[in-house]
Amino acid sequence: MTQAPHQLEIRNLHASVGELPILRGINLVVPRGELHAVMGPNGNGKSTLAKVIVGDPEYTVTEGEVLVDGVNLLELEPDERARLGVFLAFQYPVEIPGVTIANFLRLAMQARKAEGEEVGFIEFYEKLKAALKTLEWDESIVERYLNAGFSGGEKKRNEILQMLMLDPTYIIMDETDSGLDVDALKIVARGVNSMRGPGLGGLIITHYQRLLDYIVPDKVHIIVDGVVVQSGGPELAQKLDVEGYDWVKELVRV
Ligand code: ADP
Ligand code: MG
Repeated sequence: MTQAPHQLEIRNLHASVGELPILRGINLVVPRGELHAVMGPNGNGKSTLAKVIVGDPEYTVTEGEVLVDGVNLLELEPDERARLGVFLAFQYPVEIPGVTIANFLRLAMQARKAEGEEVGFIEFYEKLKAALKTLEWDESIVERYLNAGFSGGEKKRNEILQMLMLDPTYIIMDETDSGLDVDALKIVARGVNSMRGPGLGGLIITHYQRLLDYIVPDKVHIIVDGVVVQSGGPELAQKLDVEGYDWVKELVRV
């Protein structure tokens, strides 16, 4: 038996909300070790793609597959998807009052362990300290309740903290840059870049090119009206920055 390739493969993915088709045949292959940017005008299915990958019940997959290292993700429950190492950073993170960041991280790490395996306190604490340092965050932050009263920048930073702690194999970042000033953007990018390497693949979804100045993608894909209309290198993002999206809309498949 040949081993399944280490990649995130999206194969002819179609998805709808109710009767309304949104994704109309997305094809993408992201080998582990690469980060690909997904760009496109607003309202064309970028967030839908992210939500379908993690299993948001609002969306119905009508055709196609999402394969993670050869496993069809769409047949798994959201928590099983997370256990495979797929991590989504949301555009609009939720608040969980009453749960501190420290507790949340501990529980999330524990949930990914095999039965009978414990997250050791020293292991947890050392890792947390290193992650907070990367993110230039004071240790006192972890005693605060998850996202309660957090600024936009703090929520994003908290997501990257989760990412650093959970060691995902694939990350999906949906507009993690929205609402961030340049300093916060750089910190987010530093966190993501510190994880890059042969063990990590992922999709960086962003409308604007500026995040990609700091997280330089291996490839760039443009989604219009629920399909990938063009793929290229980082220069494609530069072109969008200079020329905008008008030329891209001409590429829409009829
Ligand atoms: P993007 O992230 O590219 O801005 P989205 O994936 O959020 O786009 O949305 C794509 C299209 O699907 C939009 O027209 C949006 O209004 C529609 N859509 C997405 N989610 C829902 C939903 N839960 N209910 C109704 N329409 C939705
Ligand atoms: Mg979106």
